[in-house]
Amino acid sequence: MHSAASQSDAASSGNAKSDKTRSGNLVIACPQCHTLVRVPRERLGDNPTCAKCKSGVITGHPVVLDTQSFETHTTRSDLPVLVDFWAEWCGPCRAMAPVLDRLADERRTQLQVGKVNTDENQQLAGRLGIRSIPTLILFRGGKEVARRSGSSDLGSLNRWVDRALS
Ligand SMILES: [Zn+2]
Repeated sequence: MHSAASQSDAASSGNAKSDKTRSGNLVIACPQCHTLVRVPRERLGDNPTCAKCKSGVITGHPVVLDTQSFETHTTRSDLPVLVDFWAEWCGPCRAMAPVLDRLADERRTQLQVGKVNTDENQQLAGRLGIRSIPTLILFRGGKEVARRSGSSDLGSLNRWVDRALS
């Protein structure tokens, strides 16, 4: 479905997969311009910047995703992506927002938090079978590894992420 993606230089080699479990470079999608940026694993905490737009790539803030950037972040980045499917009119979604802000900040070098507005990206939400919001889906390596619906507090969200990524 996204076959063209494998043609570009970053993250295309099979070797990168085995390397990244030890050390070496991670490929991270820039939260601003969505360019793929290579960051040495040991430099993750050093505020690495995007070569193209010069923004920080580890911001500690959720990134707003549309259908296209959703694909980039979930399928091309080496960081797991926790995607919040939400809408403006949804009270529980608004209640979840500060929880997700905290999680994005606390786990900034472990995962990227993404936000998909389901009103603006209805096809994407439909394709993923989002039936209620808020729904959180955790993606790793292009695959959905966990999903939960409804609001939750930071503690239970952290435990859920820990289990999903362990
Ligand atoms: Zn950038």
